[in-house]
Amino acid sequence: ATMPPLLSAIATAGRNGVLVTSAVALEGLGSVTAVVVDKTGTLTDGTPTVVAVGPRPGWSGAELLALAAAVEAPSEHPLGRAVVEAARTRGIAYGPVSGFRARVGHGVTGSVGGRVVAVAAAPDGDDPEGGAAEQARGRTVVAVTVDGEPAGWIALADRVRPAAAATVAALHRSLGRAPVLLTGDGERAAGALAAEVGITDVRAGLLPEDKVDAVRQLQAAGHRVLVVGDGVNDAPALAAADVGVAMGGIGSDLAVSSADVVVVRDDLATLPAVLDLARRARRLVV
Ligand code: ADP
Ligand code: MG
Repeated sequence: ATMPPLLSAIATAGRNGVLVTSAVALEGLGSVTAVVVDKTGTLTDGTPTVVAVGPRPGWSGAELLALAAAVEAPSEHPLGRAVVEAARTRGIAYGPVSGFRARVGHGVTGSVGGRVVAVAAAPDGDDPEGGAAEQARGRTVVAVTVDGEPAGWIALADRVRPAAAATVAALHRSLGRAPVLLTGDGERAAGALAAEVGITDVRAGLLPEDKVDAVRQLQAAGHRVLVVGDGVNDAPALAAADVGVAMGGIGSDLAVSSADVVVVRDDLATLPAVLDLARRARRLVV
């Protein structure tokens, strides 16, 4: 028996690890004109590790990690988990935290041993004491403050997905326009990573609602926008998109539930082929 073209295309996508939730979603895919990607967990594999620490005078690297791990212990953010893991693998003990608070897109604070400790996005700068050299290499740098005073920085690196550059190039060819990168990370780290994968349009330092605004701006300019994201923070942008694509994997339940398309195999590389498939299916129907 022959399947209607849309259903057949959905089945083909499924065999390639891409779940298209409805025929409407597939039609949407076929009319996309701009692609927006998130950095962490989308272009990178989303499991950062601590690669360097920069304690200020008066602090040791171990003290810095101990305080940071203490305040990050309740955090569910991949950066927080990486800091805790770094303390653990180095055998650094850390105390309990009270009054833990996480601010989306910023960082965490809490009280550790009677001191207020914060770990949060480090501003871009030229200050070597602020980890500027690490940012220039595309690493995420977070600043640790103790009772409001800077105590040092921690640099984290996330592996760029092997297929990222080729996927960006394929999307560029297919749409005549390179994807746009939206990220909560700083300008410098985001710019270095974007250059590595062939993206020039980078919007950094964004909160989840800023990502939504960026999507709306593209739509206002007449684009049908596809957003690829991962993680809870991207759910609003996925929902605002004409087509929301969630990268599969652990911890992205919320993103998955607000998505039209789910990339099950956690492999970005299948996306350009599915876009082309959706476009062909659409031509057969219209
Ligand atoms: P992304 O857009 O990459 O998903 P987020 O919006 O989750 O980024 O976070 C933006 C930035 O806020 C991070 O790059 C980091 O600097 C800072 N940040 C967020 N959560 C934490 C945390 N738990 N610990 C330290 N820094 C954090
Ligand atoms: Mg994210």
